[in-house]
Amino acid sequence: MTAPQESSAAGAAALTIAASVRSGERSALEVVKEHLEVIGQRETEVHAFNLVTTEHALAAATAVDQLVAQGEDPGPLAGVPVAIKDNLCTRGVATTCSSKILEGWVPPYDATVVTRLAAAGAIMVGKTNMDEFAMGSSTENSAFGPTRNPHDLGRVPGGSSGGSAAAVAAGFAPISLGSDTGGSIRQPAALCGVVGVKPTYGTVSRLGLVAFGSSLDQVGPFANSVAEAALVCEVIGGHDPADSTSIPQAFPAVSEHLSDGVAGMRIGLITEMMGEGIAPDVALRIRAAAEALAAAGAEVEEVSVPAVTYGLSAYYLVAPAEASSNLSRYDGVRYGLRVDAPTTGEMMELTRTAGFGDEVKRRIMLGTYALSAGYYDAFYGTALKVRTLIRRDFDQAYERFDALLSPTSPTTAFAFGDKTADPMSMYLNDVCTIATNLAGHPAMSVPYGLGDDGMPVGAQVLAPALGEVAMFRVAAVLEGSLA
Ligand code: GLN
Repeated sequence: MTAPQESSAAGAAALTIAASVRSGERSALEVVKEHLEVIGQRETEVHAFNLVTTEHALAAATAVDQLVAQGEDPGPLAGVPVAIKDNLCTRGVATTCSSKILEGWVPPYDATVVTRLAAAGAIMVGKTNMDEFAMGSSTENSAFGPTRNPHDLGRVPGGSSGGSAAAVAAGFAPISLGSDTGGSIRQPAALCGVVGVKPTYGTVSRLGLVAFGSSLDQVGPFANSVAEAALVCEVIGGHDPADSTSIPQAFPAVSEHLSDGVAGMRIGLITEMMGEGIAPDVALRIRAAAEALAAAGAEVEEVSVPAVTYGLSAYYLVAPAEASSNLSRYDGVRYGLRVDAPTTGEMMELTRTAGFGDEVKRRIMLGTYALSAGYYDAFYGTALKVRTLIRRDFDQAYERFDALLSPTSPTTAFAFGDKTADPMSMYLNDVCTIATNLAGHPAMSVPYGLGDDGMPVGAQVLAPALGEVAMFRVAAVLEGSLA
């Protein structure tokens, strides 16, 4: 079993790989084969992948090596193995969202983020397991069986991007991509002891990301270090004319500010995320993080962001409402599974009954109810008002602070089956992450030591919209303070 410390000690593997492949010192093929070997050794027990794309990876690596041989530069991620969450479209490679309903569906195009990674020289080694349609916090909602936490196989890796977090923690790939609608990058990053970033809404293209809650969804990276995560954000981010919600500017230049430090920065510790419901060992680590920032010259103070306490309630109306609409496209006609029946109506009913798992059905029902005539104003309308209040309270906090700090997850990784019987206890995992998505702001999780059970704890750094430079500066100082 890998000790959690080892993954951070792995350092900036992706940057080292890219430098040596670019200079011709190592071949991409050798790098990829090495990683496929590690996957071969542990994938059966971890189950990070729905599919390992061996052939694709070997071919792509050979192409990168050819570029180097021709004296061309394959890009900043040359030869770096990447694992891609299975809700990102990959041309010619099955994309399942860990759902039976997409059985047999092969996308005819790549997600923009996948295209951009490939253009930077990165090499896809597989599609990672997830909670079905990204609904969940433990990867137990996958139709293909759960992913296990590489640090303790009896525990969950978090979710919904559990496969992507586990892939990096297990050394299957130094980089992976996930999606975050309410915490699905940050929470599994925290539970697996890796860095995970949810960028500002609109900074990373959603083209080719299978939609869950379109006003909340954002793609972002997992990595072993803050510097690698920064580089991946710059590679995948920036304007995409094919995504109408894409901000028409480049991703903030985070890499060049990683060593700026936090001297003189004002950082607020969110009061509402340090009290009831937060495990004492987690809170202790976050206080230590706050002290480290103060020791590095930041002014650190507690700050109240009152409306975040309503985040969970608002999210479980907004996200299911959008999901119920987005998932109406799986009708047995256009994608994947079809269960034949005498009439079209029956065919659709049987297909959706057989194709969706329980949690997805629960969300569709919640969302349909929240949007139904007579309840629309009371539920969906009220949730939108709360969303405005959350944004307003964050804005007020950011008048005084450059960045905020909190735990990422209220506990360390829990055991399989611990929370599956009670959906509410599973939803409560996202208390610290969800408000960010409702506000559209960036936030990231940085490993900050271990809890009493020896499992990783993640510190969450939050920033205002497009405040990624401040966010990454804080994250880099936290990372450095542990070294
Ligand atoms: N756990 C949350 C949910 O189940 C968030 C998931 C996500 O960010 N995709 O909806």
